[in-house]
Amino acid sequence: MREFELSIGYIHSVEKFGTVDGPGIRYVVFFQGCPFHCPYCHNPDALSFSKGKRVTVDELTDDILRYRKYTSGGVTLSGGEPLAQSDFALALIQACHQHDIHCAVDTSGGIKLDQIRAVIDEADLILLDIKSFDENVALERFGVDTQNTWKLLDYCEDIKKPVHIRHVIVPGLTVQSMNSDGVVPKDYEEFRKINSNMIEGAERFRKYNCIAKVELLPFHKMGEYKWEELGLHYDLAAVEEPSEQVLRWSRTIMGQ
Ligand code: SF4
Repeated sequence: MREFELSIGYIHSVEKFGTVDGPGIRYVVFFQGCPFHCPYCHNPDALSFSKGKRVTVDELTDDILRYRKYTSGGVTLSGGEPLAQSDFALALIQACHQHDIHCAVDTSGGIKLDQIRAVIDEADLILLDIKSFDENVALERFGVDTQNTWKLLDYCEDIKKPVHIRHVIVPGLTVQSMNSDGVVPKDYEEFRKINSNMIEGAERFRKYNCIAKVELLPFHKMGEYKWEELGLHYDLAAVEEPSEQVLRWSRTIMGQ
């Protein structure tokens, strides 16, 4: 991994009118580099720490200000894993705050709290991706230790930091849409029986006042071509997008 200086960072790209990464229309900065390996990652070209465009906080802030009147929501730091460049993330948020710009951080929560606490303190909103409700699946298939994720959520609760939870519904990986005999559940009760991890996750969420929203996002394959372009094996090629019913039942578990 590179040595990062406080005011210099490496980004993959920016999106000037983002509408899916936090409230309102937002300027989204996709950081370069991520230590994890989610099988559905939409930006596999943003994973390497030895690539990316070198930018300073000043350069980026100038561009953010240029689009400010169109981006009423503010700025979102996404990636890659923005908290893997925590000093740069902190400096960028501080620079935005000098102009009263709302800052959200989109993170997997996989980085240890001690390394990211200052960024969490400074951010206005955390978009926290829960990779899997099964900690073994999260570790083996995503490389994310969800103990770090839950500790981050505990910390957000302690300091009353607003959190939006995000969770991608992937049949066979993060949700079970068939029982062990390959039979599709015939009703909600059967679906619940084979998704006890999700039920536990939903119960856990209810204990946190800092959670303002839980978003369940259907898995899709829009990033698959990028894996192919990079010559990488796309593990989820045979996985189907979740049915409307699976999404509805999953949302019912979350109390939606
Ligand atoms: S944490 Fe985000 S950037 Fe990193 S592998 Fe997962 S989806 Fe991709």
